[in-house]
Amino acid sequence: MSESTFGRAAAIAAKVESFVRDVVIPFEKDPRRDHHGAPTDELVDELKELARRAGVLTPHILDDHTHLTQRETALVLQKSGLSPLGPLACNTAAPDEGNMYLLGKVGSDFLKQRYLHPLLRGSCRSAFFMSEPAEDGGAGSDPSMMKTTAVLKSDHWVVNGRKAFITGAQGAQIGIVMAKSDAGACLFIVDLPDPAIQVERIPKTIDNSMPGGHATVKITDLRVGPEHLLGRSGEGFTYAQVRLAPARLSHCMRWLGACIRAQEIAVHYANGREAFGKTLIDHEGVGFMLAENTIDLKLAELMIDWCAGVIDTGTLAIAESSMAKVAVSECLMRVADRCVQVMGGTGLTDDTVVEQIYREVRAFRIYDGPTEVHKWALAKKIKRDWKASTA
Ligand SMILES: Cc1cc2nc3c(=O)[nH]c(=O)nc-3n(C[C@H](O)[C@H](O)[C@H](O)COP(=O)(O)OP(=O)(O)OC[C@H]3O[C@@H](n4cnc5c(N)ncnc54)[C@H](O)[C@@H]3O)c2cc1C
Repeated sequence: MSESTFGRAAAIAAKVESFVRDVVIPFEKDPRRDHHGAPTDELVDELKELARRAGVLTPHILDDHTHLTQRETALVLQKSGLSPLGPLACNTAAPDEGNMYLLGKVGSDFLKQRYLHPLLRGSCRSAFFMSEPAEDGGAGSDPSMMKTTAVLKSDHWVVNGRKAFITGAQGAQIGIVMAKSDAGACLFIVDLPDPAIQVERIPKTIDNSMPGGHATVKITDLRVGPEHLLGRSGEGFTYAQVRLAPARLSHCMRWLGACIRAQEIAVHYANGREAFGKTLIDHEGVGFMLAENTIDLKLAELMIDWCAGVIDTGTLAIAESSMAKVAVSECLMRVADRCVQVMGGTGLTDDTVVEQIYREVRAFRIYDGPTEVHKWALAKKIKRDWKASTA
């Protein structure tokens, strides 16, 4: 990264950090939460307005709608992640961030105008409908098991199926729905709410940072005009792959920021609390946990920077983002766990944000591909490469 480019991103990141630390963190105890503890839209809208005034709303996308490079984005999103509320305030949160990226890359002018621009302004939120309920034998780790259908009827598509774990479906204004046509997977952009898309239930989950929770929805005879098809019929997995690597990596960036904060809180505790005649940090067991955290946080940062650099070359970075997702989610889990441990009983309470970060990172080991699925895909690639090298 050139000095001037680095300077541009560093300046934005510094503004985001001040905003999150000074303005957002005091809202962490705000009682405006939904049934499973996620911030309400009222709270998020208030935070977005504060971000707008501070000049840090959608900070990774510039006024001319160009996107920071992935390496630059890493600096900015990490700072927005210092609080679980930070990405919501700054409009860098999933799934909107990944949906904006996808629409920016492959949306038609019509789709950009109608759906991307309001998302960039932070005036609405979106959901990505891909996974399906296990009880239906639908798409989960294996997206090719997709059961939701899209049938072309003269001048419009008709979509039917059920979806599971759809983050933010409840309360979203825009949906990107994946379904299977005769030609293969398709992605449709639709307005929400739509009476054809019904939320069946919103399970209570281990995490609670994302507004609307993770809904199970039923889609019955959803009518979609052809101009709402993203790209061509049958190309849905190709377009989803455009979103895949950057979206995976942006989770890594935000949760790295959160774990840096957890470490700060654990360090503060370990320096202020005594046991057996000395401060906790002077006990080798505690000091070593904090030292291991420092090492893991640096590993995560470097892995993100490496993968971001690969995406910046214009490749899909499928294997690289799998490696980064596994490495970062697993090492951040270790960091969050050690922070809880260092803080004793306090680490388990909601007196600090550490317990929430622990729960959020646990969920991150599942979404955007569970660790085992990435390892399995990498193992298949290793076999393919070996066969090619010995052919
Ligand atoms: C908090 C959260 C938010 C989510 N948000 C969204 C969203 O907005 N939109 C959306 O479409 N989906 C979303 N998901 C769904 C998520 O993408 C799926 O949970 C994930 O793909 C795994 O699918 P599954 O839950 O059906 O697990 P399953 O497919 O049932 O897999 C269960 C376990 O089997 C193991 N496994 C599977 N395949 C292999 C393999 N090849 N080798 C070894 N082990 C394997 C893994 O350990 C895996 O965890 C979300 C999930 C969570 C938890």
